[in-house]
Amino acid sequence: MNIRDALPHIKTSTAPEDLICYGFDASGLEELPSAVLWPETAEQVSEIMRYAYENDIRIVPRGAGTGMSGGAVPLRDSVILSTERMNRIIELDRENLTVLVEPGVINGRLQREVENGGLFYPPDPASMNFCTIGGNVAENAGGPRALKYGVTRDYVMELEAVLPNGDILNLGVRTHKGVVGYDLVRLLVGSEGTLAVATKIRLKLLPLPADVVALLCLFTDIEASGKAVSAVVSSGIIPRALEFMDREAIKAVERIQPLGLSDTVEALLLIEIDGHPEAIRKEVEKVAEICTGFGADVSMAENENARMRLWESRRKVSQALYLIRPKKMSEDIVVPRNRIPEMLVSLRRLSAETGIGLVNFGHAGDGNIHVNLMVDRTNEEEYRKADSLVKRIFEATLVLGGTISGEHGVGLTKAPYIGMEIKQSELNLMRGIKNLFDPKNILNPGKIFP
Ligand SMILES: Cc1cc2nc3c(=O)[nH]c(=O)nc-3n(C[C@H](O)[C@H](O)[C@H](O)COP(=O)(O)OP(=O)(O)OC[C@H]3O[C@@H](n4cnc5c(N)ncnc54)[C@H](O)[C@@H]3O)c2cc1C
Repeated sequence: MNIRDALPHIKTSTAPEDLICYGFDASGLEELPSAVLWPETAEQVSEIMRYAYENDIRIVPRGAGTGMSGGAVPLRDSVILSTERMNRIIELDRENLTVLVEPGVINGRLQREVENGGLFYPPDPASMNFCTIGGNVAENAGGPRALKYGVTRDYVMELEAVLPNGDILNLGVRTHKGVVGYDLVRLLVGSEGTLAVATKIRLKLLPLPADVVALLCLFTDIEASGKAVSAVVSSGIIPRALEFMDREAIKAVERIQPLGLSDTVEALLLIEIDGHPEAIRKEVEKVAEICTGFGADVSMAENENARMRLWESRRKVSQALYLIRPKKMSEDIVVPRNRIPEMLVSLRRLSAETGIGLVNFGHAGDGNIHVNLMVDRTNEEEYRKADSLVKRIFEATLVLGGTISGEHGVGLTKAPYIGMEIKQSELNLMRGIKNLFDPKNILNPGKIFP
């Protein structure tokens, strides 16, 4: 009996149009699944997993498929478990500043709902208007505001999750503190859907900051912009966002969401400072002064509409680059913040040496640079050259004390390189954990490990 006949009460499809739509993510990788399932409750997820466990069927959890490392892309003969129908905001607890959600809730929807009540959920991936909280938990997603407020991991308090054998776990605490036993919530956050399927998530909330000011800082020298990042971060002020775009990224966005910037701009920083209006006034002045000192032309978004326009442009960078090179490759390195100028110089040198165009943007305040290799990955020769460049970029990153992925995860695309960063003994320990949770290797196999 197949899974569809075994679980007739759960919506399932094997229609070619569904298999195609659920067979890829934003990494550009693709493979057809054998079926797509849309459970509506944790109990249904548990039934699916139990059946899959007993019958050796591979299951791939999937939120919105915006992942950049192929985490939700199935291997051959896998079944997609979509969380799309598990999209309720179950409980907003204003007294304790928490919210309980199902995994298919879209991040941006949650942001808007809590903000309407004067509350704040900081993790804001640039994909927030279409990615899910379940996907954010699985990838430990960050976003521009991670600089001041941290990443998804810092907000997950409780997790209901289904093991590969169908058992339902209830992990974590709903209290502000709690240290009983190992912290399995922290282990599951960022485990890329390889250990368990998240079915309910309780998140910490904060009061909504009273005011936000955005500064646009335009540089004619890219290295100076990197130095300005280090100077701002070490000045004692923590902006809530400090985003970077190089000239090519700016030019690409100007095509689809123009800010009217001149061709002479080599780099921009988009800096946001939040807090009480009185307190942030001085901070804004100081940050503007630092950037001006590094030669920037600094302007302030004069109202909320202007601030939103800046963010719309920033969030469209990926899209703009895909329009230029639909099969580009994208990396997600992080270096210590004071090493950003060196990393930018290395990237420029590597691009010149290999003749491969690189476009860089990202969360510079976190040292997180999205490096885009403007190649056609489906062209074998271009791919070979790009692959060896990726290795050199990772080497340069690790030499500076960085990491090869800040937020996009390992998935399929970075699995071949994980050994560059993680020692064999540590990888063995991780494999041991995977084996303990998933002894039959049926949950999202082929991800993370080479
Ligand atoms: C334009 C663009 C901008 C982006 N900007 C950012 C950014 O600023 N910061 C950032 O961190 N990321 C960013 N991303 C990457 C991506 O949006 C995030 O990784 C996001 O968290 C993925 O969510 P999703 O719902 O699309 O998950 P999917 O892509 O569907 O899945 C991602 C992984 O999570 C697993 N998964 C999904 N749901 C569950 C669940 N309920 N239980 C267990 N495992 C699950 C999947 O198996 C897969 O391994 C961006 C992507 C795009 C396309």
